[in-house]
Amino acid sequence: MSAVWPAKDDTRRAVLARLAALDDVAGKADSPTLLPLARTELHHLADGWRRLLTVHCAEPDGSCASCRTGIRARRWPCPVWRAAHEQLIGERVQHRQRTLSPRNRFTRLSRR
Ligand SMILES: [Zn+2]
Repeated sequence: MSAVWPAKDDTRRAVLARLAALDDVAGKADSPTLLPLARTELHHLADGWRRLLTVHCAEPDGSCASCRTGIRARRWPCPVWRAAHEQLIGERVQHRQRTLSPRNRFTRLSRR
């Protein structure tokens, strides 16, 4: 694993520990214990997805407001929205057919 700043590593560890604890409780707790926790955590889950997806909204030019590959913005739906769709809906978002840019000079040449 690459080097991580201590504060970032603490954040990562805390989040992963919380997820592990939730998995543990989901697998072991009895229903009277699990139901109130599940209600609370489902609200947290929905709120968390909404907050994350808001940050990854589509810009008017069709790019993601947050995701970048190098200096270019990723096309929307970005990997975060694709993961949300897969996780929440249960199926992958189909990739769009790629079209060549009209600025691609080879495309122009082939149309002549
Ligand atoms: Zn994004």
